[in-house]
Amino acid sequence: MAKHLDGRLLATRYEASLRASIAQHLATAGYPPGLAVVRIGEDPASGVYVRKKAQACGRVGIRSRITHHPATASQQEVLESIRQLNADPSCDGILVQLPIPAHLDARQLLLAVDPAKDVDGLHPLNLGRLMRGEPGLRSCTPAGIMALLAQGCIALEGIRALVIGRSILVGQPMGIMLQQANATVTMAHSRTRDLAHQCRQAELLVVAAGKPGLVRADWVRPGVVVVDVGIHRVPPRQQGERATLCGDVYFAAVEPLASHITPVPGGVGPMTVAMLLWNTVQAWQQRCGGVVRTVLVPLLPH
Ligand code: NAP
Repeated sequence: MAKHLDGRLLATRYEASLRASIAQHLATAGYPPGLAVVRIGEDPASGVYVRKKAQACGRVGIRSRITHHPATASQQEVLESIRQLNADPSCDGILVQLPIPAHLDARQLLLAVDPAKDVDGLHPLNLGRLMRGEPGLRSCTPAGIMALLAQGCIALEGIRALVIGRSILVGQPMGIMLQQANATVTMAHSRTRDLAHQCRQAELLVVAAGKPGLVRADWVRPGVVVVDVGIHRVPPRQQGERATLCGDVYFAAVEPLASHITPVPGGVGPMTVAMLLWNTVQAWQQRCGGVVRTVLVPLLPH
């Protein structure tokens, strides 16, 4: 039976540490950290994520606000609200909630965010800093995964890691972070030949393909560490039942073989939110000129 890498528990610890740090430094800073979420359209999953992020902000003492544009908003309108947030001194972090409607250019919107407020770590400057191993705001999901692996005492040096998925949001920064921790990383994607064979070689699997149940029991080697990034709604099978969530890994079959595994829900998801809070507090500290930069989460991997 695999040990569960418990994202809920670790996120709770991060929140406690951030809450204490904010309370301690509030008077010196003169204002609380502020996070602005730019939401465009009515994607229901995005609505749930935005709400959860706002609730998490409230728990630690970050002031959050949501700028909600209709699905018909123009590129110029969204760009203008990002510019206003860039200029707003009470706003330390800006997050453009993805996905956005197809008529909008996500690259241009992400580029418009002030890199110092880019708490999703998706601005090219922050991605470049990550690639060079320089300090900067890190992509939340892979940073949260690194924290989970550290908390689970997974030794990454020399480990054979396979990352399935090469998105800018998850797979690419994940691969870089694992390499920087001295893992030997293979990247897989939709054109990878014989993915099952690649999986069987891996001692660490990070699965971010967005395909429910993609990784099955006969794809993994015993003792593998499995990080499941995928998140999918499973509709109720009959009336009266509630919808559930599943990941990209066939959990029931893989869990008995793995040494460690992240559950879905309760694994990567809560840590993604925790790292968003962490990035917002980090941005707040930077903008306060380092006055309050003394204490922060000792659990972080970087
Ligand atoms: P994405 O942008 O759609 O990227 C998916 C990646 O997986 C692509 O690189 C794609 O390859 C690859 N892929 C797709 N099908 C594959 C297959 N059959 N075999 C191998 N590779 C395959 O998705 P994303 O934004 O990275 O997110 C991935 C999943 O993680 C989604 O389920 C998303 O909801 C979830 N997610 C969860 C969290 C969290 O906090 N838990 C955060 C972010 C994302 P190509 O490049 O060749 O197309």
